[in-house]
Amino acid sequence: MTTDLRSDTVTKPTPAMLEAMFSAKVGDDVLDGDETVNALEEKLADLFGMEAGLFCPSGTMTNQIAIKCFTQPMDEVICDETSHVYRYEGGGIAFNSASSVKLLHGNRGRLSAELIEPHVNPADIHYPHTSLVVLENTSNRGGGSCYTVEDIEPIYHLCRLKNLQLHLDGARIFNALTETGDDPKDYGHLFDSISVCLSKGLGAPVGSVLLGSLPTIQKARRIRKVLGGGMRQAGYLAAAGIYALDHHITRLKQDHNYAKVIGEILSGLPFVESLLPVETNIVIFKLNGGFNADKFVEKLASHDIRCSKFGSQSIRFVTHLDITEDMVHHTVGVLKKL
Ligand SMILES: *Cc1c(COP(=O)(O)O)cnc(C)c1O
Repeated sequence: MTTDLRSDTVTKPTPAMLEAMFSAKVGDDVLDGDETVNALEEKLADLFGMEAGLFCPSGTMTNQIAIKCFTQPMDEVICDETSHVYRYEGGGIAFNSASSVKLLHGNRGRLSAELIEPHVNPADIHYPHTSLVVLENTSNRGGGSCYTVEDIEPIYHLCRLKNLQLHLDGARIFNALTETGDDPKDYGHLFDSISVCLSKGLGAPVGSVLLGSLPTIQKARRIRKVLGGGMRQAGYLAAAGIYALDHHITRLKQDHNYAKVIGEILSGLPFVESLLPVETNIVIFKLNGGFNADKFVEKLASHDIRCSKFGSQSIRFVTHLDITEDMVHHTVGVLKKL
């Protein structure tokens, strides 16, 4: 069995999840609704203390819809320079929202009110109008680093004061909640919208849900249609999401433990120059002279272990539902002998 540590998106649906998908009751979600999609949207909205939800094909779409909802052309979005909305969504902010981006250098992907405040533009026609702040929790390029509710509160207050909207890219929000122990209900109060991915650590094959107020989600539904993201008998996919929420949240701690085991071994190995603190299911480290990233990826592949190049000298491992204890032992054994 290949040990695939490239991403937590590679998980396959379990037999029980497939069973839930097969037996889903479906309708037409674009025409007049699909009860399983509705159930998923309501379940997540309730969980996060939000009014409504919108099921979409991807986290890229939920993020881009949120940005479109909260900006006008010529506006500016504030986010960390490593954020997914800027780096990995194909220039979507420029294309979909005709807005510019102010990139900040956060602490492992995390922003603070002090960092953001000086970059909120004054009302002066020379400057783009700052309208939105985007946070990412956990931060992917920050090595799975987490914000706590306490970290976010000052950012929320700044946004209210400056009349900015606040969006959360919560692709891995359940990984963050697993570590911080925060109540997801607090998030509904802090954010204007939240994107939650079902196809990362939660193990569903497809889908993300955008959460927000009723008017926001009504607007978001129009934008989803324009982007071609309306799906008809989507209840089959939503059923996988519901199953994941019911069965795959409590097990995330296991992924984090495995990532920590791998991180601890790496920190003592001679070819590792530095390692980001391992907080959740992501392990990012920098190689020193002996290896470059291409060579390292190739070397591990020869032992049936797959990982991602994350820059010319950097590597990312991500643990997930399909990584077993045996696979972690195999990986640790191979790393020690390199
Ligand atoms: C994966 C991911 C997304 C969404 O990705 P899709 O592949 O479009 O579902 C958004 N933000 C972060 C931080 C991610 O890791």
